Amino acid sequence: MILEEQKDPMGWAIADYYRNGVAGRLRVFSSMFDEDEMPVEELFRTLDEMPEVERTAIALARGRVLDVGAGSGCHSLALQEKGLIVTAVEISPRSVDVMKKRGVADARLINLYDKELAEKFDTILMLMNGTGIIGRLSNMTTFFARIDELLADGGQLLIDSSDLIYLYENEDGSVDIDLNGDYYGEVDFMMQYKNMKGASFDWLYVDFETLSNYACKNGFKAELMAEGEHYDYLARIVRK
Ligand code: SAH
Repeated sequence: MILEEQKDPMGWAIADYYRNGVAGRLRVFSSMFDEDEMPVEELFRTLDEMPEVERTAIALARGRVLDVGAGSGCHSLALQEKGLIVTAVEISPRSVDVMKKRGVADARLINLYDKELAEKFDTILMLMNGTGIIGRLSNMTTFFARIDELLADGGQLLIDSSDLIYLYENEDGSVDIDLNGDYYGEVDFMMQYKNMKGASFDWLYVDFETLSNYACKNGFKAELMAEGEHYDYLARIVRK
């Protein structure tokens, strides 16, 4: 699945910001949080402006790299500057257009799951809550099977996420979660830019232990490489 041009609010915000140096409000609606805004300039962050978790990922990247859901191309550009060969994939037509204009040498309008993407990569990068693209815990098996197809021998997946447990913590440290309900990191999002609304989509936040357990069940192992200031972390996942 590729986004329709008229249902790509983040892509249009990225295009406006690229063209004019400013963008309107990129509004975010979700099942978990109050209405919010995504600061569009942050999608254009440079290496120096990236959080520690992301800078660690850039430092660990090696060989041929696949940047999944590359957005404006911020990580792809940082890696190209290090001399790495990067393929950036996006389902947002406007974002791919901007990446090409910004100098991402191989930016493709293609879904991670599209079998036309058939090369092997030494590093697969998924950043800015990269586990979001997995969507739901029930997609983990399909996700890891796809990563297995795309990873070269000895390759690594570098992926970040946040543990949303803090939303459920009481002041005394106890936690209120419904163990019979959906996993607490499964969120439904919708974005809007100006009058353009995108379709709603599933977005997964996952704690490191749960991610690690799913990795193990699917032939991989996960290692915690960095922890951020707010329940966020970077995992490196390799074959067992
Ligand atoms: N990595 C970028 C952007 C993160 S937003 C950054 O850190 O700034 C997540 C991006 O993933 C969006 O631009 C969205 O269009 C893209 N995306 C979502 N699902 C995808 C999929 N299945 N394949 C490729 N890209 C996807």
